[in-house]
Amino acid sequence: LSAAGQGLSAPRAAARLVMAAYHGAAEPALALTRRKRRLAAFGVDPAEDLPVFDLDIFTGPTCTDECDFTPGTRWDVVDRYLTPAGRAGGWAAAARDRLRLTPMVIDLARYETHAEFEADLRKRSSRTLPKARHALKAGYSVRCFPTRRHVYDIHAVKTSMRMRTAGPVLDYWLLRPEDIAPPATRPIEVRLPDCRQHWTLWWGVFQPARGHRQGTVAVDERLVAYVKLTRRGDLLHYVDIMGHRDHLGAGVMTLLHNEIMRWLIESGDLLSSGVRIVLYGAAEHGGEGLLTWKKRAGFQPARLRLAAPSAGR
Ligand SMILES: [Zn+2]
Repeated sequence: LSAAGQGLSAPRAAARLVMAAYHGAAEPALALTRRKRRLAAFGVDPAEDLPVFDLDIFTGPTCTDECDFTPGTRWDVVDRYLTPAGRAGGWAAAARDRLRLTPMVIDLARYETHAEFEADLRKRSSRTLPKARHALKAGYSVRCFPTRRHVYDIHAVKTSMRMRTAGPVLDYWLLRPEDIAPPATRPIEVRLPDCRQHWTLWWGVFQPARGHRQGTVAVDERLVAYVKLTRRGDLLHYVDIMGHRDHLGAGVMTLLHNEIMRWLIESGDLLSSGVRIVLYGAAEHGGEGLLTWKKRAGFQPARLRLAAPSAGR
């Protein structure tokens, strides 16, 4: 009896264990050894307290009856960035914070319009926005897409490089397309989430490509970069963001990020309204190149503190 297509392959399961061990053991060490240098590289004095944002990620009045997010649900990829609710101050809390990674965030309250965000990017580097404009001119476009429509393209993106700025890519050796999602066998549209406060959506950068197929389905365009977004109330997280090696030089990652920021700041879309903080990993992650990218993209080091689930929710 074959287990293929049902759950993880043995090497993928092993890779997941390796990552769990990494998060448990290696990250506190990274936090201790790298923080000072990384914050200094950012122009932040490591001795100063970082800005603290209090976040409510729990179910709220705008959740629908179909919302299945419940307080206490573990959110593995993000929990390690959050200071738990109700934690007392003092030296013990300070010590624990020293072992916690430093989240890189964008505070959306700073921007009333997308133009204000772009003005901030211009202050950080004069080269960021021209890259995004150049990508648009070259014919790339950005939008939300159903994962199952582009399984083979996502696989091509994930396996286009052995090394990334964040380190070696295990997927290069281990990933099969069907590990990503069951590929669609007919044309499909994005299915909007049940709850506007708690969801996962994939956004992608597309290039027209007549006759391009995903399995048996003609899609006539190629996905060349993607980001998997997860929202929990106030917080939006870049869980996984990646571009195809052959298209990185065309500015597709900058275009993707800038269009998502436009959507968050001024689209009025119910799915994006109310998001307060955008989180993309930690200052200690990856090489200096990744940190530079985050800086130019508008991220800053901060502390995220979880609000307790409020009464009546
Ligand atoms: Zn909800």
